[in-house]
Amino acid sequence: MSERTAALAARLREVCAGMPASVFMEVCGTHTQAVARYALRQLLPENVRLISGPGCPVCVTPDSDIGAALALTGRPEVTLCSFGDMLRVPVGENDSLLRRRGAGADVRVALSPLDALRAAREQPQRQIVWFAVGFETTAPHTAALVLRARTEGVRNLTVLCAHKTMPAALCALLGGARTVDGLLCPGHVAAVTGADAFRFVPERLGIPGAVAGFEPEEILAALLALAGLRRAGKAELRNMYPAVVRPEGNLRAQQLIGTVFEPCAARWRGLGEIADSGLRLRPEFADFDARRRFSLPAGVETAEAPGCRCGEILRGAAGPRDCPLFGGACTPARPRGPCMVSAEGACAAEYRYGASC
Ligand code: SF4
Repeated sequence: MSERTAALAARLREVCAGMPASVFMEVCGTHTQAVARYALRQLLPENVRLISGPGCPVCVTPDSDIGAALALTGRPEVTLCSFGDMLRVPVGENDSLLRRRGAGADVRVALSPLDALRAAREQPQRQIVWFAVGFETTAPHTAALVLRARTEGVRNLTVLCAHKTMPAALCALLGGARTVDGLLCPGHVAAVTGADAFRFVPERLGIPGAVAGFEPEEILAALLALAGLRRAGKAELRNMYPAVVRPEGNLRAQQLIGTVFEPCAARWRGLGEIADSGLRLRPEFADFDARRRFSLPAGVETAEAPGCRCGEILRGAAGPRDCPLFGGACTPARPRGPCMVSAEGACAAEYRYGASC
C-alpha cells in the first residue's frame, strides 16, 4: 500500500467516525474491478459499506437483447460482431452466442466497431451486424461507425443497438426508498457526459455524489469526499477526477451521440424497462437498424439462467457470495450469469480477488 493510500484510508476512518452508518454505491465496472483488485473494502471503516450497482455494460444487457442477437445467428447471410464478453454470456440452460458459433453461425469477436466496418467492406455479399452494447463511453464509437458507413456508402452493415445511458436508470434504481447514502459516479461516463450531468444525484436523489477516477488513491479520495458530505448532511456533487472530467464533458462525443441516436426506453437486466435510459438510431439512420432490416420483434424473450442472482446484484440488493452458485456451479471458466463473465462484473471481481462484497 502506498503512503498516499494509507494516509487517505486513515483520514477516511477519521471522517467516518462521526458519520451515521452509510451505504455507498459504485456504478462502473472499472470501479468494481479496481475496488476488488486493490482490496479497498478492507480499508473502509465498519460503518461504511460499498456496494456495486448496474455499472458493467455486459452485465446490464438483458437476455431480451441477447435473444435478438441469437435470433440473428439463425440467418445464414448474417455475420454478427460484438465484444468478446458478450459472446460468452450464458442464456437459459445451455445457450450463448459462443455456442451458436460452435454450431456453425458466423459470430465474430470485435475489438472495436471498426472491425465490423472492415468486415462489411471485405465481404459485401454478407450482412454484417454490430451488436452494440455499453454506456455513454461506447455509444460515440457506434455513432462514428454509422456515420462512416453512410459516408462510404456501405449498405451491408447494420447495428443491433443495446446502448444504455446512466442518469434515468440511476434515478429509477435510487429514487424510491433511500437505500444508498452516496454515489461514486463513473469517471469514464462522466468524461463524455461531463460532471454536470451527474448533478441529478444531489438535486433529484438528495444524496451526495463524487466523480471518481480509477487508481486506488482516486477512489479513496472520492469516498472521502462522499463521507465528508454525508457527515455534514450535504447533498452536493464533487468532481474528484478533474484531470479527465470537465464540467461540460466531451462535446464532440456528445455531438456524435446526438447526431445518430435519440433517447428511448430500454430494458436493463435486474432493473426492467426504464424510460429514456437507452439509445436508438434516429429515423434518418433507420437503414442501419438491424431490428428493422431483419424484422426482429421488439423483445425477443429468453429464459434467465436458473438460480442466477445477477439481477439482484445489479440492483445492489445482493452480493456475489449471496448466490449459492458462486464459486461452485458458477466460475469464470464456466459462468452461469453475466456478472461472472466480464472482468468488470461483480461476481468475476469477487472470484478473482476475493474481496468481501
Ligand atoms: Fe449469476 Fe454466477 Fe453471479 Fe450467481 S455467481 S449471481 S450465477 S453470475
